[in-house]
Amino acid sequence: MSGWENFYKLTSDERITKLAENRQLTVADQKLMRDHFDAVGSQQVENYLYNFGVPVGVITDLLINDHHVTVPMATEEPSVIAAANNGAKLVRYGTGIKTRQTERLVRGQVIVTELDNPDDLLGYVNEHVADLLNLANNAYPSMKKRGGGAKRILSEVIDHDKVIVNILVDPQAAMGANVVNTMAEAVAQQLRTIGYNVLLAILSNMANEAIIDAQVKIPVGVLAAKDGLTGAEVAERIVQASLIEQLSEYRAVTSNKGLMNGVEAAVLASGNDTRAVNAALHAYAAKDGKYRGLVQWSIDDGELVGKTTLPLLLGVVGGSIGIVPAVKLNHTIMGNPDVNELTAIIAGVGLVQNLAALKALVTTGIQSGHMKLQAKSLAVAVGANPNEVPLVVRALQAEKKFNSSSAKKILDEIRK
Ligand code: NDP
Repeated sequence: MSGWENFYKLTSDERITKLAENRQLTVADQKLMRDHFDAVGSQQVENYLYNFGVPVGVITDLLINDHHVTVPMATEEPSVIAAANNGAKLVRYGTGIKTRQTERLVRGQVIVTELDNPDDLLGYVNEHVADLLNLANNAYPSMKKRGGGAKRILSEVIDHDKVIVNILVDPQAAMGANVVNTMAEAVAQQLRTIGYNVLLAILSNMANEAIIDAQVKIPVGVLAAKDGLTGAEVAERIVQASLIEQLSEYRAVTSNKGLMNGVEAAVLASGNDTRAVNAALHAYAAKDGKYRGLVQWSIDDGELVGKTTLPLLLGVVGGSIGIVPAVKLNHTIMGNPDVNELTAIIAGVGLVQNLAALKALVTTGIQSGHMKLQAKSLAVAVGANPNEVPLVVRALQAEKKFNSSSAKKILDEIRK
């Protein structure tokens, strides 16, 4: 394909023109891109064209560690934010969410291969722990000055000729990926200098050294469902559903996807790396060799008790956090949490999202709520304007036919 040479050197305006020529885009397509130009975005990624908007809504009141927090969520999926608010409401009838986190370290891996005798390297590392920690810290001195930095070195033999030298780093208020990569590369360079073959050096996204426990207790009475089930019955069914998530991997994956509906939306709104959080959480779900649900529910003395343990590495500085105005705004909405508070908030979002999904699933099912919101999307998709949307939604609900041809027919009727 010709015509793409030096695309990256063009201004975003010139890129849009070039793209339009090569991909037969209309004037309206080009206008859409130009209307969504963003000066910050244009500095964030390569081959920049325009900013792609994701709707942001909030959990109005998440009771977390005795604080009432408003949590922005960025997601395109209808019903996620409504469900999170339902879960948050139930949680407020109880203790609110309580969290506990003991350590927060990021692991850098320096992978050494082609070793004649792995013990030589293990010996070298053991004798030079302090030197290697100094080396890592000198590669990124500001972290140590803040009280963080490289804290521990651990080496592990992974094969007869392969060793990983792990550096555990406290990244303070940052998520730490770049910080740790810089430190890991410095250690890698030292090992190369003394003759070892280093294959690669990078952080691990398996965040098992940044675990947070979150718990909530809710009086079962508040769980009574519209369909006539008592609160105790709903609680019992939630407990059974959570047990299934420990037994069926097919169910566990779907449940964890539901948890990620909330976690990922809040992580994205906070300007953090959704892929890193996703990778860590799914890996943790499979930590004992079988993929399991990340939340467990039980009943204790008339209360429904929810517990989750999540590996969560987030930042309140670094990456895009300081530079994207909407991210700054979202932190302001949350009350500018510190990194531990933000981690607690995100864990809490996971718990409420799971609670809301399970409660809906074991009572009316999720479709009735989903379809109400889906009706809105259908109305917009067939061209309803903001005044027409509620009318189309009402008619779709009355007809219980949630498809675009019904929506179109209703809209045509309204416009007659
Ligand atoms: P940065 O590279 O932005 O480093 C953190 C920045 O925050 C530094 O500039 C640091 O300043 C500044 N800072 C200010 N105050 C503090 C404080 N109190 N504590 C800590 N830092 C402070 O970000 P990260 O290292 O956190 O890396 C995150 C980024 O890396 C994300 O964008 C992520 O997407 C990306 N990434 C992720 C990978 C992965 O997950 N596999 C791989 C590679 C990149 P100073 O320099 O003065 O210390």
